[in-house]
This record gives sequence, C-alpha cells and structure tokens, in this order.
Amino acid sequence: MKISRLGEFGLIEKIRKMTSQRSSSVIAGIGDDAAVLKVSASASLLATTDMLIEGVHFDLAYIDYYSLGWKSAAVNLSDIAAMGGVPRFCLSSLCIPHTLTVEQIADFYRGFNAMLRAHRTTLVGGDTCSSRLGFVVSVTVLGEIRKELVLTRGGAKPGDKIFVTGALGDSAAGLEVLKNRVTRSGKKVVTEAAKRLIEKHLRPIPRVTWGRKIALSQGAHAMIDISDGLSSDLGHICEQSHVGALISAEKIPLSPSLQIAAPYLDAAPLDYVLSGGEDYELLFTAPLEKVRKLRSLGIPLYEIGEITRTRTMLTVDGRGKKSPLSARGYDHFLNMSENK
Ligand code: ADP
Ligand code: MG
Repeated sequence: MKISRLGEFGLIEKIRKMTSQRSSSVIAGIGDDAAVLKVSASASLLATTDMLIEGVHFDLAYIDYYSLGWKSAAVNLSDIAAMGGVPRFCLSSLCIPHTLTVEQIADFYRGFNAMLRAHRTTLVGGDTCSSRLGFVVSVTVLGEIRKELVLTRGGAKPGDKIFVTGALGDSAAGLEVLKNRVTRSGKKVVTEAAKRLIEKHLRPIPRVTWGRKIALSQGAHAMIDISDGLSSDLGHICEQSHVGALISAEKIPLSPSLQIAAPYLDAAPLDYVLSGGEDYELLFTAPLEKVRKLRSLGIPLYEIGEITRTRTMLTVDGRGKKSPLSARGYDHFLNMSENK
C-alpha cells in the first residue's frame, strides 16, 4: 500500500498502534506536541523533535543559514510552548552536503544559538554526518513542566471559546512572496508588507512565554501550536478531544501586511490562514468563566470561535452562512506530487 493512502497522520497512528507499550511514566506519548514523561512525583520531562529537510521544508535559494538555524530551534521550542512548558536542553543533528562551507554552518549556529539564548535553552549534544542528497537538520528539545499544568490537545470541552495568540497566514504568504521572487521575474512584490511577511516565514517567534503564562493561569483546557495551518491544527484538537468547532471566519486575525499584500498574492488571505502552516501562534480553548482571567495575562488573545458537541468543524461567515471546514493543512504524504 502506498503511504499516500494513509497520509502523514494515518501513518503516525499506525506506528503508534504497532509499538504501543503501556507505561505509567508516559503521561502523554505519540500524538501531542511533545511527549510528557514522569520523572519524579512533581516534575515531568517534555520531549519533542522536528526535522527540517532541504527541498521539503526549505529551499536554500531563499533562506539564509542564520534564519535556517533560528527557525530550526524555533519550531521545536514552539512545541514546548504548546504544552505550557519551560524549554531547558537541546540536541542538534546535521546531515551536511559537501557543498556547504564552515562559514555557512557557523551562520546556521549563530541563528540557532540566538533563538536558544532567548529561551535559556542549552545545546547539550547531537550528531554530525555527511549527506549525499540535501541539507538535513534534526532538532530535539527537552523541557519541563509540573504535571498538573500540562495542556494537551485532548482537553477541549463543548462550549469552550477558541483563541489564537496572533495573526495567521503571514508565514505561508511570505513563502509565496519568496517563491515568486525567485521563480517569476517581472512580478516582484517587494513592498514593506511583503518584507514583513517574509520575515514571519524565515524568523518565526515561538510563543514560549505566552504558552507558559496560559498554563500557569490554569484557565485553558487544550492547546496546540499552529504549525500545519489552522484547519489541521484545530482538527487535531477536535479529534483528540472528541468535539467539533465553529469558527467565525471574520474574527480570525489578519495582519495589516497580509491585507496590503493580498491583491498581489495567488490565494485569498483565508486560504493561507486555513491551509498554510508555520505561523507558530498558539491555539487554545477555554471555558467562558476563565476568559476574564486569561485576558488579564497581558497576552494578545483573539477569540475566533467555539467548541461544539457535534463532531464536525464548520466556519460561519458574516452573514451567518455555515460551511464545512476540513483539515487541509500540510500533510507530507497527501502533498506528494502523485496525489495532486
Ligand atoms: P508537530 O507538528 O507538533 O511537531 P507532528 O505532526 O510532527 O507534531 O507529530 C505528531 C505526533 O506524532 C507527535 O507526538 C510526534 O512525536 C509523533 N510522531 C511523528 N512521527 C513519529 C514517528 N515516526 N515515530 C513516533 N512518533 C512520531
Ligand atoms: Mg506542534
């Protein structure tokens, strides 16, 4: 059977089923942003790993090595943020093609280290080898959290309000600006707005402090970071919490940059929001009675909808028209060219 028939998440589920072993030390295993592992009566270890592969996640034609290092650390820190934890340690592994130089690797680690330093995370190990194909980066981040503060994808309840911590769609739009600049001469969109979108794509900011504040407030029920697009990541919360969601399309925050650049882009802003990934804002749900407390945390919070008992995802427009929302964010195997 072709892997594309299962898709990325179907394949992960198959791996989970094939390898599942019960352990009282595993509070959350495969299926959340980070694993939550009991190491003592009060402390839990958070563990997360993500790869960035040339030709799949990045193209060296439009990402510089500093940004690549920064982003490789940021996407992993974001998964610790999504659990409400504190990042502590990091491991980095590189497969390096012979065409790369020492200076380029040094630039990579300058960016990587800037991101780690900002979040007081220490690089403690990794692996280095040659690659005959492209440049491959694999990063693991370890963090900590008290068990009772953990925010998984599985805690959302009907009636919960759904929040995001910032504007969505910028990163995917920024990638399109970069691709157009590289591949389509004569259609350059080099405005200040486009530059800001590019910046959001190349140098994402993981919401570590915000995720921590949300967890410490004990006001939220479930949380995830938006790495694969709103529709997919909300889909993970709905699936694991056995609930549905109604999203008010008009309430989704769009940055001024995306609105300014929209006429020059191939897709509508909402398409970048729903299907584009890599925004790394947090998406969380909270009951009405906790909303005031959450609003007092000093974090940007945008209420975009509500969790429903009926297990479907819907969007509603300004005129009250409801449409089904299917998870259509990035899937490594469903996006393979043979499926297009
Ligand atoms: P995220 O987008 O938050 O990084 P992913 O979608 O990459 O999460 O992964 C979803 C879940 O599946 C995570 O818990 C991850 O650790 C797990 N996972 C992914 N691939 C594998 C694998 N090959 N073996 C075991 N667990 C995996
Ligand atoms: Mg995640």
